[in-house]
Amino acid sequence: MDTLGNLFVVAAPSGSGKSSLVKALMEVDVGVAPSVSHTTRAPRGQEKDGREYFFVDRATFDRMIEAGDFFEWAQVHGNRYGTSRQAIAARMQAGGDVVLEIDWQGALQIRRLFANAILIFVLPPSWDELRARLQRRGEDSDEVIELRLANAREELAQVNQFDYVIINEVFERALFDLKAIVHAQRLRFSAQKRVHADTFKALDID
Ligand code: 5GP
Repeated sequence: MDTLGNLFVVAAPSGSGKSSLVKALMEVDVGVAPSVSHTTRAPRGQEKDGREYFFVDRATFDRMIEAGDFFEWAQVHGNRYGTSRQAIAARMQAGGDVVLEIDWQGALQIRRLFANAILIFVLPPSWDELRARLQRRGEDSDEVIELRLANAREELAQVNQFDYVIINEVFERALFDLKAIVHAQRLRFSAQKRVHADTFKALDID
């Protein structure tokens, strides 16, 4: 399947700053809309149902799998997460850009469904810095942090399957990189022709 708009998929190990980057992109670029995933994990802190996630129980999630409601889903850190068709289908049909902030397993499933999806991987600058960020976040016990670091090793082994890599050492630089990727996709021939159909027609370009 090809989508009219761009489908950006951003994956990274936890602590890489992926969420902050995607959030900052959305603040400056109204042309990109996020997708709200479903998850079986409990809400954290100020999270609101329908904003960060749709929080559902395992039975509901599994019913949705059975019904074919998901474009992709995966088990991450012991919980299930999925991108529902409903979350992005309407926007994609209208030709708008969508960004999915999902794990690498989901990213590869999306690539199989949508050949033109753009896969972006965010790397931390080093293991020490990743550990330090997880500690600074103060959300997890030492044990959970070690688990996240062990998982990160497996996740990083997938980076070669992605189209773009951002190394998030200095946040502003990483945001610039993300914006550059988004902008470059919009300058592709097919996108330009769709958005500037009149100009192409006036220039007699098919
Ligand atoms: P968290 O629980 O910290 O919000 O997310 C844990 C991991 O699940 C993150 O890597 C996040 O990107 C990923 N994730 C969130 N939504 C989805 C989704 O819909 N599908 C998949 N495959 N992963 C997701």
